[in-house]
Amino acid sequence: MTEPCGGRCEDIQAQLCALFDPSTTPERAREILQIVAECPHCHGRLESEQEIRALLRRCCTSEASAPAALRQRITMEIRQMRVTRYQG
Ligand SMILES: [Zn+2]
Repeated sequence: MTEPCGGRCEDIQAQLCALFDPSTTPERAREILQIVAECPHCHGRLESEQEIRALLRRCCTSEASAPAALRQRITMEIRQMRVTRYQG
């Protein structure tokens, strides 16, 4: 029952909030995404647009603090990462 992320799915879900924090640097965001990419469970959740929206609601004081452009950028990073991953 060990997750590839080391059973830290809950931890990682919490870290996902930082992705939508405007003060998080792109480098830091990429680090978090890389950890997520190691775990199909965590990654699968993040692939869902619905889940991203839910995260936004949970993590941010308002959707205004994470503009559509930021959300789109993160969604794109996630998709790119998947491509990279499956190409080995
Ligand atoms: Zn996980």
